[in-house]
Amino acid sequence: MKTIGLLGGMSWESSIEYERLINEGVRARLGGNNAADLIIRSYNFAEIEVMQAAGDWQALGKRLVADAHWLEQAGAEVLVLCTNTMHKLAPAIEEATSIPFLHLADATAVAVADAGLVSIGLLGTRFTMEQDFYRSRLEDHGLVVLVPDEPDRTIVHDVIYGELVRGVVNEASKNAYLGVIERLLERGASGVIAGCTEIELLVGPDDVDVAYFPTTQLHAEAAVAAAVGD
Ligand code: GLU
Repeated sequence: MKTIGLLGGMSWESSIEYERLINEGVRARLGGNNAADLIIRSYNFAEIEVMQAAGDWQALGKRLVADAHWLEQAGAEVLVLCTNTMHKLAPAIEEATSIPFLHLADATAVAVADAGLVSIGLLGTRFTMEQDFYRSRLEDHGLVVLVPDEPDRTIVHDVIYGELVRGVVNEASKNAYLGVIERLLERGASGVIAGCTEIELLVGPDDVDVAYFPTTQLHAEAAVAAAVGD
């Protein structure tokens, strides 16, 4: 079994989900007392959030590249960056390391395509919904990506940063998200990507009547497959 290096979610609320899901996946495949071989870089999200808001992607990139190196030197054989947003910096990480990097948008796009869908709604942070780095990666797989209009994007973003990364899960926000999803479906989406690794803490596949793609679960499954070699 390969050692997986995790670059945190970046809030620990989602990092811990990765740790749990990957361990459960390894147990399901290998049985007995088997568990994943993990090295985890967990972050103080308050620091990360300030740098994101300031647009200091260069400093964030340096930090992630240094941490990816550190994981590689510590023995990681596969890298998993547990956040959609920070995949903005995926090219720098991939270039700087020599171990496989499991891109979150690829794992997600494959699941959407396998479900036979093309037109897909995308929920995530403002960075993920509005910038090109993530959407274009999905589009490279032939998907047509719809993001919420305003004020829905603000609602989705604010719930992530004001609640979910703090472990706050509330019914009003869940209903607000369900409304956003409804409007994406009315505009022609045939499914929805939970494109932020904390979103599935609020809205899971059982909460919606439509094909729903929880990126933490999909990415964790890809990590398990890479680690146990299938
Ligand atoms: N976990 C988030 C994501 O998947 C947002 C927090 C972060 O910026 O890492 O986009």
